[in-house]
Amino acid sequence: METKELICVNCPMGCRVSVTIEAGEVLSVTGNSCPRGEAYARQESIRPMRILTSTVKIDHALHRVLPVITSKDIPLDMMDAAMEEIRRVTVDAPVKMNDVLIENLLGTGADVIASRSMDRI
Ligand code: SF4
Repeated sequence: METKELICVNCPMGCRVSVTIEAGEVLSVTGNSCPRGEAYARQESIRPMRILTSTVKIDHALHRVLPVITSKDIPLDMMDAAMEEIRRVTVDAPVKMNDVLIENLLGTGADVIASRSMDRI
């Protein structure tokens, strides 16, 4: 049996949450002040998720790269593979902020979207 101490990041209260895990399964969560804290602690303990921010190459624009972000969290253990996938992509200007550049990144259900617009030059 293992106990992990986490700080919930879902709101400014920052509750200290304690998670008891055995054989890869969460047995109990304590210290959370609301259900969001329990859901966060369970996910964070078993398979942490994160938003990915990066850049893709862009042609015919003022800059050589365009900032991008995933539309939702993806598993932390898929970050390297996700970065590989993003590195393969080159987009062509113009691009509008929130344009979807990669759909369903590696089957995660998250899209890679443009973080800003970039005009064609
Ligand atoms: S457990 Fe609930 S109240 Fe506490 S930090 Fe998380 S979201 Fe906020």
